[in-house]
Amino acid sequence: MLLIKNGRVMDPKSGLDQVCDVLVQDGKIIKITPEIKEEGAEIIDASGLVVAPGLVDIHVHFREPGQTHKEDIHTGALAAAAGGFTTVVMMANTSPTISDIETLKEVLDSAAKEKINVKTVATITKNFNGQDLTDFKALLEAGAVGFSDDGIPLESSKVVKEAMEEAKKLNTFISLHEEDPGLNGVLGFNENIAKEHFHICGATGVAEYAMMARDVMIAYATKAHVHIQHLSKEESVKVVEFAQGLGAQVTAEVAPQHFSKTEALLLTQGSNAKMNPPLRLESDRRAVIEGLKSGIITVIATDHAPHHADEKNVEDITKAPSGMTGLETSLSLGLTYLVEAGELSLMELLEKMTYNPSKLYNFEAGYLAENGPADITIFDAKADRLVDSHFASKAANSPFIGETLKGQVKYTICKGQIVYQN
Ligand SMILES: [Zn+2]
Repeated sequence: MLLIKNGRVMDPKSGLDQVCDVLVQDGKIIKITPEIKEEGAEIIDASGLVVAPGLVDIHVHFREPGQTHKEDIHTGALAAAAGGFTTVVMMANTSPTISDIETLKEVLDSAAKEKINVKTVATITKNFNGQDLTDFKALLEAGAVGFSDDGIPLESSKVVKEAMEEAKKLNTFISLHEEDPGLNGVLGFNENIAKEHFHICGATGVAEYAMMARDVMIAYATKAHVHIQHLSKEESVKVVEFAQGLGAQVTAEVAPQHFSKTEALLLTQGSNAKMNPPLRLESDRRAVIEGLKSGIITVIATDHAPHHADEKNVEDITKAPSGMTGLETSLSLGLTYLVEAGELSLMELLEKMTYNPSKLYNFEAGYLAENGPADITIFDAKADRLVDSHFASKAANSPFIGETLKGQVKYTICKGQIVYQN
């Protein structure tokens, strides 16, 4: 038995925000109330700390199979636990891609060995070919939680429509990375800084919001649910708002880097600040924050994208792969750039990092309640933390190394077991 004493217990689902004790047994929370006495229980003193549901991240890249020099499911799970996450959803751009039952089973077998909940989507199209749908029904039955070709946008509107119709039939949804290659230049560099500083044609805003506009309207027409991944432009927030206003089933996520920083970070952090979609302008950063505040954007997801240092440290930055390791800085970025900055309350931040992403997938996660799962994150919301290059992830490609952020994860508990302690 585990007894968490005197923490500020915060549950976005019920609205509970009170200093309480939490008693855990056999993977479940059995009691939440002020002053629990339990002989023989292992005690965690959470005085001055926040006790929240284990964080849920619906967008991670764990690189297994195929690119395990960057990350594998085990180190990815360790990074998640260190960041306060107890449930994550892997993207399917592994090598081979998660397009068939055999690869899916291999991934899920590996995931089952971890102490946190590692789930995965499967691809929308076979091996990302952009043309032929995978067998959604068989993949769902074998344990995939949804579908995405994240990383390779779907160019064919016909395929998008077919995928939405199939997903709707099966009571699931597709998630889309929106960057139309036909409208884009070099990925990872926002068009402004690309032109002014790097003298190249960079990643344009229109590539994102035009493709997104097409897809939310297909969702409107098909009455299917589409989830927009890591949107980054002011206009994209407006597109989502417009579609939601029409009654379309459109949900959206933003990555912490996009509400924290702008394209200028490329000048100081180089390739570690290169990602798809790229860091944008201050007006875009403000717009995604407003989208979070108004509820147009309901989910914060990391897009944890580890890369090996040798791959990032190439002479020509345009040749470096896009993406940053994100699981171990996500909570701190939310605490720093949203809560400390006065944009969201701590409860609102937690809702977007626990209950909302969990609800999207109907996971039994993301809340604290008696008889609910004992997936719990205990953190100091006020502590200053200097981000250094020591991560549980195999990778250290973070543009936040050297920055002092708010917040320190103290314990991560999953299925009633302490899986991380600092
Ligand atoms: Zn993506």
